[in-house]
Amino acid sequence: MIPYSRQEIDRKDISMVNKVLKSSVIARGKIIDKFETIFKTKVSSDFAISTNSATSALHLSCLALGINNKSRVWVPANSFAATANCALYCGAKIDFLDINLNDYNIDFNNLEKKLEYSKKKNKSPNLIIGVHLAGCPYDQEKLFRLSKKYKFKIIEDASHALGATNNGYKIGSCKWSDITVFSFHPVKIITTGEGGMITTNNKKYFEKIKILRNHGITKEYKYFKKKIKQKWYYEQQDLGFNYWITDIQAALGISQLSKLNKFVEKRNKIAFFYRKRLNNNNVLFQEIKNNIYSSYHLFIIRLNLKKIKRTYEQIFNKLRKKNYFVNLHYFPIYFHPYYSKLGFKKGYCKNAEIYAKSCMSIPLYTQLKKVDQKKIIRLINQL
Ligand SMILES: *Cc1c(COP(=O)(O)O)cnc(C)c1O
Repeated sequence: MIPYSRQEIDRKDISMVNKVLKSSVIARGKIIDKFETIFKTKVSSDFAISTNSATSALHLSCLALGINNKSRVWVPANSFAATANCALYCGAKIDFLDINLNDYNIDFNNLEKKLEYSKKKNKSPNLIIGVHLAGCPYDQEKLFRLSKKYKFKIIEDASHALGATNNGYKIGSCKWSDITVFSFHPVKIITTGEGGMITTNNKKYFEKIKILRNHGITKEYKYFKKKIKQKWYYEQQDLGFNYWITDIQAALGISQLSKLNKFVEKRNKIAFFYRKRLNNNNVLFQEIKNNIYSSYHLFIIRLNLKKIKRTYEQIFNKLRKKNYFVNLHYFPIYFHPYYSKLGFKKGYCKNAEIYAKSCMSIPLYTQLKKVDQKKIIRLINQL
């Protein structure tokens, strides 16, 4: 089976993990700090905090920004459910943004209208979570400018976009956002099995997130509310969580991170071969502007259904039958029964729905063999 994406683990990764397993510390050790330090240098942010998943990273980030049951959070409709779930964890009201059919990210004409309308109704969002779909950054400067005008915070869900850049700025540098979140799930750019990372340039958010990751408990005297100096004392100040990554995973993360550039270059190379060889009358590609370097977490094609004779299902099923595990990223989050229950109906985000009827992620991972890629291309062109 050829998956749409998968991890690449080498001997160096294994030996790094082995070293931790053979040591006396496998959790809450110094290697976690080391992973965070290397990471923040890599993406050019002031702070980095690792977590056991991007989902918990999103949750902590929302809490750090003060999202609660009075808040309104907007997210693009075509993302993984976790992008929206984090708002609901905090009791916030969720709403969905439509996308454009060029780069499949937030549609700004639509967003500006929605912001203007919401302002009049006194229902402006408190937070917008942007998603860099497939590793292609949305127009961050534009969203940042709007955030100043309409006074909302920004989290970048960069689960797909480690290694990507926008106008030369690295995703994760938080130049145009408050907080950025990454995922280290095995299909993503680098992996720690499960795992996530938060980056920010705001010291207050950093400190809050660190405490919330650890049950709401701090062990540092300088943060204590009760000034007790005894060595046994620690203090719970908030209702936090245990969202720690392990040392075993952090070791894998450090090793994986050292290969980031190589991984992303490889992904770009494979993507360009698809762009060159696939019949681009019948399939459409994500627009990647000149100022963008995509990390290509996914290679998404859109079937030009007006031109081709087969249906989406016929092509999808045929590829699956041939053991190419193509996938659909993503149908609108509000199609999930849990979200329909909240009152979102079919037709709510028109472009996101058009997109979902035609988009398909085809195999793209660092160790995808050229012969396999050629087979996939031939098969898709035939179909
Ligand atoms: C993978 C993913 C997540 C969740 O990541 P986990 O590390 O599995 O929790 C969130 N948002 C997007 C866009 C993702 O692709």
